Amino acid sequence: MASIKNAKFIRSKKDMGKICPMFLKEFKTDKKVKKATACVSAIGVYQAFINGERLGDFVLAPGWTAYKERLQFQRYDITDLIKSDNAFEISASYGWVVKNLDYFRPAAFLPQTNRPAVIASVEIEYDDGSQDIILTDESWQVSATEILMSQIYNGEVYDARIKGERNWEPVEAYDWSRDTLIEQEGEIVRECEVLEADKIITTPKGETVIDFGQEITGYIEFTPYGEYGDIIQIDHAEMLDKDGNFYNANYRSAMAQITYICGAENKKFKTHHTFFGFRYIRLTNWHGPVNKEDFKAIAVHSDMKRTGHFECSDPMINKLYNNVIWGQLDNFLDVPTDCPQRDERLGWTGDANVFCKAAAYNFDVERFFKKWLRDLRVDQLESGAMPNVIPSVSNDTGDDGEHSSAFWGDAAVTIPWEIYLAYGDKDFLAEQFESMKKYVEFMRREGSSEYLYDRYFHFSDWLALDDVYDNPDRALANRYKRNLGTAAFANSTDILIKAGKVLGKDMTEYEKLHKGIVNAFNENYVKDGDLEFKTQTEYVLALKFNLVDDKPTYAKRLVKLIEDNGNRLTTGFVGTAYLMDALTENGCVDTAYSLLLQTQFPSWLFSVRMGATTIWEHWDSMREDGTMWSTEMNSFNHYAYGAVAAWMYGTMGGIKYDESKPAYKNIKIKPVTDPRIGWVKVSLDTRMGTVKSEWETKDGKTVYKITIPDGAAADVTIGNETKKLGGGYYEFTK
Ligand code: BGC
Repeated sequence: MASIKNAKFIRSKKDMGKICPMFLKEFKTDKKVKKATACVSAIGVYQAFINGERLGDFVLAPGWTAYKERLQFQRYDITDLIKSDNAFEISASYGWVVKNLDYFRPAAFLPQTNRPAVIASVEIEYDDGSQDIILTDESWQVSATEILMSQIYNGEVYDARIKGERNWEPVEAYDWSRDTLIEQEGEIVRECEVLEADKIITTPKGETVIDFGQEITGYIEFTPYGEYGDIIQIDHAEMLDKDGNFYNANYRSAMAQITYICGAENKKFKTHHTFFGFRYIRLTNWHGPVNKEDFKAIAVHSDMKRTGHFECSDPMINKLYNNVIWGQLDNFLDVPTDCPQRDERLGWTGDANVFCKAAAYNFDVERFFKKWLRDLRVDQLESGAMPNVIPSVSNDTGDDGEHSSAFWGDAAVTIPWEIYLAYGDKDFLAEQFESMKKYVEFMRREGSSEYLYDRYFHFSDWLALDDVYDNPDRALANRYKRNLGTAAFANSTDILIKAGKVLGKDMTEYEKLHKGIVNAFNENYVKDGDLEFKTQTEYVLALKFNLVDDKPTYAKRLVKLIEDNGNRLTTGFVGTAYLMDALTENGCVDTAYSLLLQTQFPSWLFSVRMGATTIWEHWDSMREDGTMWSTEMNSFNHYAYGAVAAWMYGTMGGIKYDESKPAYKNIKIKPVTDPRIGWVKVSLDTRMGTVKSEWETKDGKTVYKITIPDGAAADVTIGNETKKLGGGYYEFTK
């Protein structure tokens, strides 16, 4: 057991307001140190230092978990840092915990403190076999610091005039269960890329703006210029408006601002306990020359290993793919967030649900999602109901409460299954199984009948462009939501059955349930041989989840809808995730390619054409004429529509796992070409090794080059012919 479990949480005795406290313990060692280890955590976020050296490089440690039961601590080897006189310092801030998530306050189960608290231990083993243990307790001291404010949404206020000034005062113990402490489970969040300033712009309004050329999540590093007491202000934005002016009205209440008060000496500076989603910064009160070299943008995210690569002959599609990659990096900051900029940045379950397949192609997300799913289990209600964001920040779990929305709550079922299929850990699937089942049982119990999931609040096909999802006729819109809810219920039940079978369970009862749901869907939502609402998404779900018998007819109807709309989609968060597969699996892959290649609104490439560097929340977050969707809910960095990347790997490149032999032990390789694309190159690092699939069409012939890792097997389908192959390199011409 780590000694940190014997330490006490400590905090300042008085409320320091927004000022970030620094905690201190001085200690001496007079023997030769063999090994020294520190463990640190916080209610809030922290940076720890021994003798002025920062421990580790975890940004916003200890990370974000379901704090009521799970609070990560980090372990550091500090052997080389120990001297005879030592200062152990911990700087802390509100982070995700304390009085900060204004958007969803109050959250009664969050620690009831308006002050950050820290907990730490140092274990020192000496050469002579003796040991010293230093724990946080009432003997520590605390002081206000030059970080006058550092908050996730609002940014930082830093006073360089008082840098290093301390007024040490006693601390008090804070009563919070140490049983919540768990060792670091997720990926480390760190500074992963550094971007140079791309352009310095003077906007029509006369403001000085720096463009980094790419939207990132993280912060800037800059060298401040100014006289003692000068106040520099830096704001962040994702976009310039149609006139080329700095635009951050879409951050809503998140101030996302740096205020730097110049001191006698102003060195390179970066903020401490906050992050921003931005591409542009605006300098106000800058007192010197504006040099590109003085500004860098540092991208911060969970440090996941890149596993997937995609490239094709169409530069716009490559840009789209690149935007998906950035969208993932920018929103995988310890938890999968909806967006990184406005006053939200929450672990929305629906977004993670629709994107997780693409995520698991792009990067190794096994650790990342396992940690988050354990939090999901903690925050799932006794009834099986699912908060719509994980870690949950809401207590709104009453009957009409906003929880358990179809396709959001389903993340409890779909993500463990996806992680199992991509990485093959059966034990983890077993760990999640009860939670998966509880959610299915919740849907079964809470609908108007056992087979309809139609009672709860549903987000529906969020942000779809057809008029049903958000129809002013609420009764109509609600009926549509419930129709989609029942489709989600069928899908999750189907996955539960598959997962149960993998785990050797008798799933007969759920097979009956699934049949019942499909029948109920048909009885309630199919009229005169067609779907009731006839939206693209309704057809997509009916096809993808096998809810209707005569699939060719429904596929034709879907294609007609798309064609009648000028080969353009109308789908929202839900439909978009399944649209391309629904078409491809039903013989309509050319329509899928048409959607991908579409550059007019609404389409994926519309945003690319408009200069996007990430994936937008709305198909028209910025319109053709440069005007914005609205200030209310308009993010330029929402990964949900990036779900299409899964189709790019799985259909264009043709690499898929085989559900019966997960983790790519058997690989399904079936590249699907299109005359509008000259070549495609895809590779994927799997647990079995690297799989590659490339093709190029020239003079009416396509050459396919396939690499299967040794030890894996593959079903390779070229045209209509399928071959069983083992590890090796193969070429085919058709
Ligand atoms: C978020 C979404 C989320 C949605 C719920 C929004 O405010 O940004 O991405 O899934 O609410 O419908």
